[in-house]
Amino acid sequence: MTVELPFAQASGLKVTAWKAVDGELHVRVPSFSDEYSIICRCGRHHWMVRTVLQEGRAILAVRCHSCGSTLDFPLEGFSFRPP
Ligand SMILES: [Zn+2]
Repeated sequence: MTVELPFAQASGLKVTAWKAVDGELHVRVPSFSDEYSIICRCGRHHWMVRTVLQEGRAILAVRCHSCGSTLDFPLEGFSFRPP
C-alpha cells in the first residue's frame, strides 16, 4: 500500500529503499511495510532524485520539478568507506 506523505512530515525520514514510479518518489522507512509517496508543499509529487555520498554516509537528495524545494533523506544501511 502507498501512503501519501506531506513535505512537512517527510523531513528527516530515514530511508531504506526508494524507487521512482511514473516520476513519483516512493520510499520505504524502517519498521513500516507501507510505501510512502512524498508530496511537495506545492502539491506536486514529481521529484528529481540523486544520491550523494557525504562524510561516509549516503544521502538521497530530492528536488521538486515544479517549485525547486529540496529534501535530504539519510539512506539507512548504506555506508561508504574510502579505501
Ligand atoms: Zn514543489
